[in-house]
Amino acid sequence: MEASVDVAVVGGGIVGLGIAWEAVRRGHSVTLIDPAPATGATRAAAGMIAPASELHYREEHLLELTMDSARRYPEFITSLAWTGIDPGYRNTGTLVLAVDGADRQALADLRTVQSAHGLDVEQISVREARRSEPMIGPAATGAFRAGEDHQLDPRKLAASLHSAVLARGTILAATASALERNGDRVIGVKLHDGGTVAARHTIVANGLAASELTHLPVQLPMRPVYGDILRLRVPTSLQPLLTHTVRGLVRGHAVYLVPRADGTVVLGATIREDGSNAVSAGGVYQLLRDAQQLVPAVAELELEEILCRARPGTPDNAPLLGGVPGVDGLLIATGFFRHGVLLTPAAAALCVDLLKGKPVPPGIERYRPDRFGKGQQ
Ligand SMILES: Cc1cc2nc3c(=O)[nH]c(=O)nc-3n(C[C@H](O)[C@H](O)[C@H](O)COP(=O)(O)OP(=O)(O)OC[C@H]3O[C@@H](n4cnc5c(N)ncnc54)[C@H](O)[C@@H]3O)c2cc1C
Repeated sequence: MEASVDVAVVGGGIVGLGIAWEAVRRGHSVTLIDPAPATGATRAAAGMIAPASELHYREEHLLELTMDSARRYPEFITSLAWTGIDPGYRNTGTLVLAVDGADRQALADLRTVQSAHGLDVEQISVREARRSEPMIGPAATGAFRAGEDHQLDPRKLAASLHSAVLARGTILAATASALERNGDRVIGVKLHDGGTVAARHTIVANGLAASELTHLPVQLPMRPVYGDILRLRVPTSLQPLLTHTVRGLVRGHAVYLVPRADGTVVLGATIREDGSNAVSAGGVYQLLRDAQQLVPAVAELELEEILCRARPGTPDNAPLLGGVPGVDGLLIATGFFRHGVLLTPAAAALCVDLLKGKPVPPGIERYRPDRFGKGQQ
């Protein structure tokens, strides 16, 4: 077994990288284990930091955590400025558009829920929306502005986190196969190649694959929720195509366009549970069709990339976050589904607070990782 570190993090997606950085900057020695960091769901993510417009019916309980995390983002990013990699954080807000009457009604109903939770979402005229975004097309018949929603480029944030963790900790290009246990204490991680990493605290943050680790004391039932997403380059003559994130309902179908500082636009995303991680032609067709309803100039952009990745979902769409009662030295941080980028700063702060012995905040109890049952004792 290698010399012991304070913290071993399994998984170097945005969540594991974020936790590793938080642990490093708060004084811990850290080894992060991942054969291919930031190539899972993180690679596909649009990067919306969107507690307001991503609020979904029956997921209101997440709001406290999503708002807390969104508020943490500016400081989290500032802490990484020394890496020299700008994650493209923008706080220009989101414009949400409706096409037909049913779309308008659905968005008005959502706004009632958002306002009841104190979110800054206001109805504006389409003309006003067009004053901010002249490329909005004639199909839009209703508009809302969500001031609290921001965005960044998750690939750049992951690169910045990777470089920060590498500079002050260790990143092992290896696959974890099991938890090393000594009775009720987790004492590190066993690697696929036979090696081990000894650690006082082990954090399981490898997204969908978390349930594949052996010797887990809890069941982590994961659900892959596939998403197709496109990256389009805006020709110089059309730049900037958009300055806000523009999303909408187009005859019941949700679609979003997220402009990036590098002159590209992210267009997403489908939500499929059909078990296929291949890009769906029908999904891509639908995204392009609906995006053109909101912003017709989408048809003139250059198609740069089409990608499909699985969001790490859980049976109740809520994260698996925290320690396991009766088991020392272990934290779980997975199941972030549609919100992993948004929730990274809060999840990272929570994990490091917990390993420093702070109590579990009351609102977090419902995300206990043992809520689906015990695993291997
Ligand atoms: C199309 C799409 C759009 C999205 N848009 C947004 C958005 O706008 N905003 C938002 O907040 N979220 C968004 N999400 C969700 C977000 O991408 C995920 O919630 C987030 O990436 C989860 O991060 P993660 O680190 O838990 O998992 P992942 O990014 O999947 O990372 C898991 C990591 O674990 C590693 N790993 C796996 N097994 C092992 C092992 N045995 N040992 C070591 N390492 C291992 C993998 O190599 C991988 O790097 C989107 C997702 C998709 C698919």
